[in-house]
Order: sequence, then C-alpha cells, then structure tokens
Amino acid sequence: MNEVWHRTLTGLRERLSRDIFESWIEPLRYDGVDGDALKLRIPNRFYGEWINTHYRDVILDALVEAGGIEQPPTAIDWEVDASLMPEPDPTPHRAPETDRSTRPAELNQTDLNPKYSFSNFVVGPSNQLAHAASVAVGSAPGRRYNPLFIYGGVGLGKTHLMNAMGHEVLRAKPDARILYLSAERFTNEFIQALQSHRIEQFRARYRQGCDLLLMDDIQFLAGRDQTQEEFFHTFNALYHQDKQIVVTSDVYPQRIAEMEERLVSRFQSGMVADIQAPELETRMAILQQKAESEGIELDKDVRLFIAQVVKSNVRELEGTLIRLAVKADLLGQPIDLAMAKETLAPIMPSVDRVTSVDDIQRAVCDYFSLRMTDLKSKRRTRTIAFPRMLAMYICRDRLGTSYPELGRGFEKDHTTVLSAVRKITRQIEDEDPQVLAALNAIERKLG
Ligand code: ADP
Ligand code: MG
Repeated sequence: MNEVWHRTLTGLRERLSRDIFESWIEPLRYDGVDGDALKLRIPNRFYGEWINTHYRDVILDALVEAGGIEQPPTAIDWEVDASLMPEPDPTPHRAPETDRSTRPAELNQTDLNPKYSFSNFVVGPSNQLAHAASVAVGSAPGRRYNPLFIYGGVGLGKTHLMNAMGHEVLRAKPDARILYLSAERFTNEFIQALQSHRIEQFRARYRQGCDLLLMDDIQFLAGRDQTQEEFFHTFNALYHQDKQIVVTSDVYPQRIAEMEERLVSRFQSGMVADIQAPELETRMAILQQKAESEGIELDKDVRLFIAQVVKSNVRELEGTLIRLAVKADLLGQPIDLAMAKETLAPIMPSVDRVTSVDDIQRAVCDYFSLRMTDLKSKRRTRTIAFPRMLAMYICRDRLGTSYPELGRGFEKDHTTVLSAVRKITRQIEDEDPQVLAALNAIERKLG
C-alpha cells in the first residue's frame, strides 16, 4: 500500500470510531493525488456521496497530516470499483443464522465493548435516572422500560450504559441474541442490503434474529426517510415479540431533526431518560475511578483542580487525566498540582476570558452589524455566511467545543461547522487580508 495512504489510515483510525472506520474507510482504495483532488476507488456511488458529505474533511485533513504531499487536495474524486464491495458476512456480527445458533454468546460479545460495565459507571444526580432505567433493562429486558430512550450530550456515558446493559443481559442469559450498533451502521447495512438484493437476510437478522436491539446515536437517521421507515418496521416487529429496544440520541425525541412523527411517538411510548453533564462531585468521583483503574496516583487537590477546569464532558475529563499521566511518566515524577496547572494552562485562560459560544456569536454580530437571528439563519449570502463561518472558527479555536455541540449552537449540521472551520483555516493560511482583519478585530473585542 502507498505509504502516505497508510499513514492517513492510521490517522483516521485514531479520529473515527471503529464502527465508522470499518464501514466507510476500510473499503476505500487510494489512487493517488491529481491536482487538487484525492483520487479514490469506492465500492459503489453511495459510498462516494456519503463520504463527500460526512468524511471528506476528516479524510483530507488526515491526508495532509500524513505529509509527503506537495499541494494539499481540497476535493475527492472517485471511481466505482464493484470488486471492492464488502463481503456480505465479513464479521461475526453479520454471520448467517446457522452460525449464530451454534456460537451465540461468542458472537454477541464481539460487538460489545468489554470496557463499559455497570461496575465502572459512576452514578451521580446527572445520570441517576438513566442509570436506574439501564439497570432495570439489564436485569429484565423487554418488561418495564420498553423502549428505553437515553439522551444527552457528547461524552456523557450513553454508549457506556448501552454496553453495560448488553453485558448484563448476556451474563444472565449467555445465548441471548444481542445486536449492538450505531444508527449509522444500520443505515450503511441497509443501503448495502438494498444494493446487493439481500434485503430479506437483512430483515431476518434485525426482525427475527434479535432479543435485544441496542441502537446508538439514532439522531443520525435525521432526514433519512427510507432508513427511518425500515427502522420503524424493525421496531414494531421486535416490540410485538416483547424484545427489548434501547435507543440513544444527543437530544430528546421531539427534538431530533427531521424524524418521522410516528417514530418519535414510539420513542416516547416507553421510558425516556436524560443524562446531563456531571456535577463537580461526580466529576471528581469519575476521575478517582479512572485513576484507580489505570493505576494512576492522584491526590485529592489535583482531582479537585482538574474537575474544576474540565466541566462539560467525561471523555475530556478522562483525556486530561491520561495526558497528565503520560507527562508524569515521561518526567519521572508524580502528578502534582503544579504540573496539573501548567499542563492545563492553555485551556484555562480561554475558559476564563470567554465564557460561551454565545459571547463569540455576539462579538461577531457586533463587528459585522448583523442580528443573531441572521447569524443562525439558513441564509447563505456572503454577508451572512462569512461572519457565520468565522464565528464557528473562533468558537472551535478558542473554546475547543465539539463539532456537534457547535452545530447545535449555530442550528446547523456538524458537517457544516466542520467545513466552515476548514475553509477559514485555509483562508488564514493563505493570509487573506479580509479574514485576518476581521479575526484580529474580533479577537481584540473578546479580550
Ligand atoms: P456518549 O456515548 O454519551 O458520547 P460515552 O459513553 O462514549 O459517551 O462516554 C465517554 C467516556 O466517558 C467513556 O470512556 C465512558 O466510559 C466515560 N464515562 C461517561 N460517563 C461515565 C460515568 N458516569 N462513569 C464512568 N465513566 C464514564
Ligand atoms: Mg456514544
């Protein structure tokens, strides 16, 4: 394989979940770079469209980071190569019924993440309800809380709880047939099944071959009518057999954009539980738990300090702890308060100076004499689109807010934010005078 592409894949593996990497990236073949386009061979044209709307930027970024390319490409050109179509049953997860019945437990376990259990989930006021409902589902699936709908922001433990339920069900009943997957993967498999005329097998797997369906990140189905329709029928089939269904989302059912009303009402018919960002005490307990499981020494004052600085999301909390542990290891000294302060300094001032996405949006509106409603509107005239993109860039740059969260802040899809940030980054690199002038003025305004 080409070395640049090999490094690109390594980068992508780090950035994307395994699920997404395997579904969308692995089947691609690299055909070099031509002018400003990266050339790829793809299994069918759906891949091309999908990749262009969802993963173009992340792929191009990874390619640029991999180095060795003179002129960074800005587009992807593709050519369909049907021989790349993934085999129908490459993973145990997609194994035919006969195999499933002979090695059920073994097959199930491959999909669940062994790291996520109830025993290492820290319970606090922010996640108590979702945790209690998950425990109930784990011990008596298909009974009281069906469906169970868990919603909450990024990195707050939805996937963790979902996996814990799966493990619990398997522990009590090792031959339970569990399907755990993201809505994105469901979509992907559905499209492939349609393409390859294997829709009957697809339906058999989801509607008959399943005791517990764990569907992660259902918001991904927004606007995908045909997949929603399929999921609706899957849902009904399982529900009428008293099979348990668990769904997670980043927002509550009524707020999922472009979700069919009848699906929304199905979601609401069971138990709906939210997860909020954890409180200080819970953040400290999570740090403690994580430190213990990783064998990291962490004094209470350091824990308190980290928990005060990193507030919004458990994944970041964990990431910060690991970063500190690596640094301590390299320096051959323990993690102490001084080291924690020094390491977290770059994110602290921005936390102090700029409190929110809202402040940045306001500053940008001020500078361009725009109204907030225009900034968040769908209008694409340059006088509005440019300030909007700039505001997205500044938010990402200063606050490090996640793309989906920024998407919500601007009432746009996260891919829109991603490409805005990318575009402005490019203009800054090109030293575009208008961009630099606006950026400097707004930065000064923000202090
Ligand atoms: P989500 O699916 O909501 O985006 P995840 O379930 O992937 O979030 O959680 C992100 C990370 O934070 C995971 O490593 C998870 O184990 C950890 N985590 C989240 N909440 C808790 C908690 N209450 N106790 C322990 N770990 C947690
Ligand atoms: Mg998740």
